Amino acid sequence: MSTSLSGRLNAELSGLRRSGLLIKPRVLDAANRARTRVDGREVVNLASNNYLGFADHPRLKEKAAAYLSEWGVGAGAVRTIAGTLRIHEELETQLAEFKHTGSALVLHSGFTTNQGVLGALLQEGDLVVSDELNHASIIDGLRLTKATKKIYKHADPADLERVLRENETDGLKLVVTDGVFSMDGDVAPLDKLIEVARRYGAVTYVDDAHGSGVMGEAGRGTVHHFGFEHADDVIQVGTLSKAWGGVGGYAAGHADLKELLINRARPYLFSTAQPPAVVGGLVAALEEVQRDPSLMRRLWDNTHYFKAELARLGFDTMGSVTPITPVVFGEAEAAFEASRMLFEEGVFAVGLGFPTVPRGSARIRNIVTAEHTRDDLDQALAAYEKVGKRLKVAGV
Ligand code: PMP
Repeated sequence: MSTSLSGRLNAELSGLRRSGLLIKPRVLDAANRARTRVDGREVVNLASNNYLGFADHPRLKEKAAAYLSEWGVGAGAVRTIAGTLRIHEELETQLAEFKHTGSALVLHSGFTTNQGVLGALLQEGDLVVSDELNHASIIDGLRLTKATKKIYKHADPADLERVLRENETDGLKLVVTDGVFSMDGDVAPLDKLIEVARRYGAVTYVDDAHGSGVMGEAGRGTVHHFGFEHADDVIQVGTLSKAWGGVGGYAAGHADLKELLINRARPYLFSTAQPPAVVGGLVAALEEVQRDPSLMRRLWDNTHYFKAELARLGFDTMGSVTPITPVVFGEAEAAFEASRMLFEEGVFAVGLGFPTVPRGSARIRNIVTAEHTRDDLDQALAAYEKVGKRLKVAGV
């Protein structure tokens, strides 16, 4: 007899429940801001990727509303089939100018961007070498290709070199890394990785989901931070769903990249374009980050302050250097318990355990934003101090 749907659902869900991996998202009762209401409780929000406070920013909302009113609710169809709205083209021109790249294409999300671009670019006979901690969307994107896949040790140029040396090919070689790693908050050593890649004739592909709007001058990204934004052998992808406040993904780089993706990237070819209101919000985000330099300043001041104070309290933040600030608790249960206790103190920060992060390094991931006030951060730090003492976390 074949498996019934309810049999399958039941078996899967009980498995997840038994292993403690069943996810139940908390419900936000207000916009995703630095202070919000979660499950009915007022909290300081350290869980969002809203780095610049753009998710609920008045200027973005104004432009989103104007685009909604002028261009409608939906894009109507796939861009290659029904014709592309001018506003999508304008956003792409603006993005390429902002990032100083030859071209840029916008897709539906960071996730589909990795699937679309990796799927479009890589062919049988090619070699792709990927950092072991790369994001799930890169892993899934690579599953769509027939290229030979190899892994190098996290952020390790010497190991990347070993893999490139051992795997010669006449095809395209692609080195793939996150710009900023989403769980550890460290930055890929792009200068060294690109240097190694070039020695072996490889192109470097940087997923800058957490670096875009965060790293580099005016948030131009990690590639810009390292000075490679004009390089034709570097492809930048990223998300428009985190710092930029909306939803979407982008690929930017070589002048011909956009045209190839229009013809080959399957999400572009087969999925309806982003709604006009989102495009309006994103256009305003790019304008706003260049108009108001205090956004980046506040993001980084807050980041430095929060990390320094956590260190003073004796917490291990894994040497993170970006607004992503992990606090290590070791075992998953301790991290989940700490997250519950923080919530009781009015602080929303998510605990992460295996398999999201390696065993023994369960943590709470805090994300500092430009929108947090000193009071918000001080409230969070006081809660951490209390929780650290109660759980007897080393050094506190
Ligand atoms: N790449 C990385 C490195 C990410 O952290 C994320 C977001 N979790 C994505 C891609 C996916 O981006 P989006 O949420 O826009 O689909």
